[in-house]
Amino acid sequence: MFINKNLISYKVKSLIVAVIIDISRTPKFLKSIIYKEIARFHVTDMNDSYLKMDQECNRKHVKSFLEEVFCTHGLSDYVITENSHDDNELVILKKGDIEQIGLFICMHCSMIFGSAEERSEHLRAHYFV
Ligand SMILES: [Zn+2]
Repeated sequence: MFINKNLISYKVKSLIVAVIIDISRTPKFLKSIIYKEIARFHVTDMNDSYLKMDQECNRKHVKSFLEEVFCTHGLSDYVITENSHDDNELVILKKGDIEQIGLFICMHCSMIFGSAEERSEHLRAHYFV
């Protein structure tokens, strides 16, 4: 009985995860576009460095929505990357800045890594799938 209860609460917990968009490296003009567009989602928290959305959103959905927004505004210099250390975090970065700030991006899925080694390990997964 106890075990079942714990399992259920674990499941519920893991479903209720907020999507976080890290905009700490995003320029002001782009932040205001994002603030405006993201209003269609249920934003629970927002400040100068991040936006937090509730569990009804999922990362893939939010990412493809933002990609459309960036496309509409002709913002091809910016990418929406996925944090390899946090399943629910998206990071908005300028393409040319990524390696300068010590991050490495996967060209196939735009996930970001803290080192070139981590990335090449991850790249292997693409080739074997
Ligand atoms: Zn990848």
